[in-house]
Amino acid sequence: MDYVEFLTRLPKVELHSHLEGSVRATTAIELAQKHSVRLPSYHPAELYQYEGIVEFLERYVQVSHAIRDREDFARVTYEAIEDAATKGNLRYSEMFLNPTNHYSDGVSYDTAIDGAIDGIRQAEQDYGVKCRLIVAINRSESPSEAVALVQQVLDSPRAEVIGIGQDHLTPDYQERPGDFAEAFALATANGLGITAHAGEIDTSTAADVEAALDLGCLRIDHGYKIIDDPSLVDRARDAGVDFTCCLHSTEKLYGWSDFANHRIRQMIDAGLNVTLNTDDPSMMNTNIGKEYSAGCVGMGLTPEQAKKIALGGVEATWLDDAAKHSLRRDFQEQISALEEQLNIP
Ligand SMILES: [Zn+2]
Repeated sequence: MDYVEFLTRLPKVELHSHLEGSVRATTAIELAQKHSVRLPSYHPAELYQYEGIVEFLERYVQVSHAIRDREDFARVTYEAIEDAATKGNLRYSEMFLNPTNHYSDGVSYDTAIDGAIDGIRQAEQDYGVKCRLIVAINRSESPSEAVALVQQVLDSPRAEVIGIGQDHLTPDYQERPGDFAEAFALATANGLGITAHAGEIDTSTAADVEAALDLGCLRIDHGYKIIDDPSLVDRARDAGVDFTCCLHSTEKLYGWSDFANHRIRQMIDAGLNVTLNTDDPSMMNTNIGKEYSAGCVGMGLTPEQAKKIALGGVEATWLDDAAKHSLRRDFQEQISALEEQLNIP
């Protein structure tokens, strides 16, 4: 077995993918036709062709509008898990779903969440992959809207909803993760996990990552600008903060194609806990298998480093100790079997 196949077949956790960015182009087109939603193209090969973050965000919103019914949410969730399981041996996922992006279409919180849960349960039956949901706050919304969304999560409890994130944005957005302090405190006080996108857009800085840490996040999505502040790197390493990083997303949106010198490679070298993720697999033309195969080869990582990242993903989950223990054992068994077959010339 060569190294690329080893990386593709490694068991994986994914902690940073957005449901709306995971919709297959063919499915997005079918759902748009079903609900008479306008898309810029009805050709699967063209739908996700775009330049830069502004066009990406437009496309993301257009596809979000095509997901309307409970069955639609079930379908796109099921397919997202199916793609990751079959293309990259996904074993467990914590996936973002942003309900407020659907409110203007008359889609309720319960419709979106319960549809996604239907898809999660079916995928677990068919593929043995568990998935949990992180309800994400649109970063461009106000602090009071963020509190209202957390309150909605608390008022409609579902075992599959385990945390709160902040993700989507409008092109004019300037990062300010600290604005959601009240919402995140409410989430934490009620036992929800918290994570925040920070330090990834062109205008963001290491101070934005610091603000997310100050919110109490022990998990940060992206976080690349942390490299500009060595003392903050020390703080995050000492606190055991996990970073959910996405190589191909940065290549597509920001042109960061030099993986060997990428900020993510620098974060790994600095001893930070880095996990590899897709962000928006369909829209970024990637999958969790490719993040490891092209990613670890491109960054020049050894099999031992790749294995450490895969196992680090288990530790970075919000699973309880017993579930983590069982997942870790499953990973170790699969990895040992793969190592015996690995043949590096
Ligand atoms: Zn993201």
